[in-house]
Amino acid sequence: MEVKVDFDRCEANGVCVGIAPDVFDLDDDDNLIVTQPVGDDAETVALMEEAVSQCPRAALKLAR
Ligand code: SF4
Repeated sequence: MEVKVDFDRCEANGVCVGIAPDVFDLDDDDNLIVTQPVGDDAETVALMEEAVSQCPRAALKLAR
């Protein structure tokens, strides 16, 4: 699974960082960065799915 960010929608509020800190991070300028865009293990994919569902801006999606 690969997580994709629509940066036109993302407001960098960090919700996804809180859910999956091994996947997402905020840089020094508070911009979202994806540190691990591809996840193959079930635990990482579950956290990615949780982040997608909780993003208040609907800026995340998963692709195979
Ligand atoms: S939860 Fe959504 S809006 Fe917030 S930082 Fe992550 S992708 Fe951006």
